[in-house]
Amino acid sequence: MVARVDSLVSVVTILADLPEKSKRPALPAVVENHFEEVPMSSTTTHEFQAETKKLLDIVINSLYTERDVFIRELISNGADALEKYRHQSLTRDQETLFDAHVPLEIRIDLDEKKKELTIADTGIGMTRDELVADLGTIAHSGSNHFLAELAEAVRKDVSLIGQFGVGFYSAFMAGSKVRVQSRSWDGSEGHEWVSDGLGSFEISECPGLHRGTRIIVSLKDGCEDYAKKWKVESIIKQYSAFVPFPIKLDGDTVNTVQALWARNRSEITDPEYLEFYKFIANAGDEPTYRLHFSTDAPLAINCLLFVPKENLEIMGFGRVSPGVNLYCQRILIDQNSETILPEWLRFLKGVVDSEDLPLNISRQALQDNALVAKIRRVITKRFLKFLDEEAGKDQERYLKFWESFGIFLKEGVASDFQYRSELGKLMRFESSKSQDGTAISLSEYVGRMSPDQEEIYYINGPSRAAIEAGPYVEMFRKKDIEIIYTLEPIDDFVLSHLAEFESKKFVSADRADLSLAGKDAQDEGKTGQGDKGLADAQSKELVAWLKDTLKGKVADVSKSSRLVDSPAMIVNPDGYMTSSMERVMAAGRLEKGFIGEISKKNLEINAENELICRLSDLVKTDETFAREVAFQIYDNAMIQAGLTVDPLEMVKRNYRILSKAVS
Ligand code: ADP
Ligand code: MG
Repeated sequence: MVARVDSLVSVVTILADLPEKSKRPALPAVVENHFEEVPMSSTTTHEFQAETKKLLDIVINSLYTERDVFIRELISNGADALEKYRHQSLTRDQETLFDAHVPLEIRIDLDEKKKELTIADTGIGMTRDELVADLGTIAHSGSNHFLAELAEAVRKDVSLIGQFGVGFYSAFMAGSKVRVQSRSWDGSEGHEWVSDGLGSFEISECPGLHRGTRIIVSLKDGCEDYAKKWKVESIIKQYSAFVPFPIKLDGDTVNTVQALWARNRSEITDPEYLEFYKFIANAGDEPTYRLHFSTDAPLAINCLLFVPKENLEIMGFGRVSPGVNLYCQRILIDQNSETILPEWLRFLKGVVDSEDLPLNISRQALQDNALVAKIRRVITKRFLKFLDEEAGKDQERYLKFWESFGIFLKEGVASDFQYRSELGKLMRFESSKSQDGTAISLSEYVGRMSPDQEEIYYINGPSRAAIEAGPYVEMFRKKDIEIIYTLEPIDDFVLSHLAEFESKKFVSADRADLSLAGKDAQDEGKTGQGDKGLADAQSKELVAWLKDTLKGKVADVSKSSRLVDSPAMIVNPDGYMTSSMERVMAAGRLEKGFIGEISKKNLEINAENELICRLSDLVKTDETFAREVAFQIYDNAMIQAGLTVDPLEMVKRNYRILSKAVS
């Protein structure tokens, strides 16, 4: 820390001038009941939270080669603290700030003899309470599941530690003892936090500190290099080149403080972008996409966005928090901003800088700010256009992106009406004409439509094979009409929200009132069953009998004009909900403790199918058995629609039918 010594008098004067609120009251003896606190004069001992202990154990035993990361993490905490202070200083009266004259910077001092590395910042600092809470627990409110994932990820690659909000503990990778001396910007008394990272930490008063935090790492045996200037300098160059405050190493400034995004695009090299991404995303991977653009009118925006390599959310790490920082004239006003992009773009990392924003705007005010909403719309549209362009340039790369991040865009369709047309272009689905495992765009689909086809058809199923073996695609195959396969439960909701694409409506193939235009394809003879079918009168009679027999189970029974091979299928009289949507909703209701009931469906029968023809005869000779067959046909059709049947009842009935068949 800067050795600019203030006279005690001036500190006291500043303190006296602070408004009552920002003077912290004396601390209660017990801070929180889950910390064991043993008062020893002014020093108190605290147990680490159990999860923290586990994490520390992994960190302490990490590989020597990975230890460099701790310097990055401590510098990044210092930089965060400085940003927070800068923001406070812009939004408050100068008189309420403690040590307002102290320059914003990070100082690193090395002592080879003592085997010590000290990192100090003049940022926001921590009060005693904050030292206990921030450096004793894992703040993430997540479940045990999260902690297990975290432990696993850190065990595999300790450099991920910062992404989980536990970077501070990396200090114990190189330190046998870590001391944190801190004084909050509110001017309350400074405190020291000391620990060997094994089970507990101690807190005691530490008078005479300036604002900010000083971390003194006593280096372990084998870690002496971290007290050598060349070593530390190379780590800073590698990891922390973009820290927006001066970093002084043994007195020399070792970084060039610059805002990369504000520089001319043509002058920035790929490696610089990559380093910047690693810096802001706290990541070790390479981004999938990068978008850097600026606008002048009507809004002045400078924006640099990265799509990371992996989607941590689908990998099971829980919901990711937003990763784009909002700046105004290179000054951070909202870190990991929740407002500058829609929620469904939370996977993006980067920076948005707009000089149109007022510098001293509070987070709360950002949320209701009309200008922020405008910037959000401009950036979102630009990003979606960018994705569309990228998809055109390199399909394979886009499909890879889609596989990992498509789920976010689908969330966008379902939650944000205003980007429907842009998002529609970015959707990818498999279809009857795509290759197995390869998705196509809706434009491709529309491009292949015959002139008399007016709608875009889709059907949901658990897999391509399951869909193709089912009844819904039969007539599509026969008429050579392409049909989209929606393989995810959310997909039907997405298409129903999209409603249309290039003025073509989306229609699910399980709709009761579906009528397909177009001539039959060449292979009609192979699948059609010619004149083997029931006569009109017979089928009418059978339909009436089925209606009566399945009363209470179906809403209606009718003769199908679109089944080719299968005996029967379930269709939806409701034009809005597809069977897949009903299934999802029913599962949701079941989870909440309600019965997962679904609405009644229609049954369509294929009057040309042999089983149906014979059933018509059976009704006359053995009606009891005919009823069993009818129920079984209904259950089979329900299963093919992906809907649930009573399995016990079905299996019993099935055995009765089998017994009859073998006897
Ligand atoms: P993260 O930085 O992702 O929040 P860390 O484990 O690195 O996670 O730090 C935990 C918390 O400790 C920080 O969120 C911050 O509140 C506090 N902290 C750590 N270092 C400092 C510092 N130098 N100045 C002020 N607060 C700090
Ligand atoms: Mg951190």
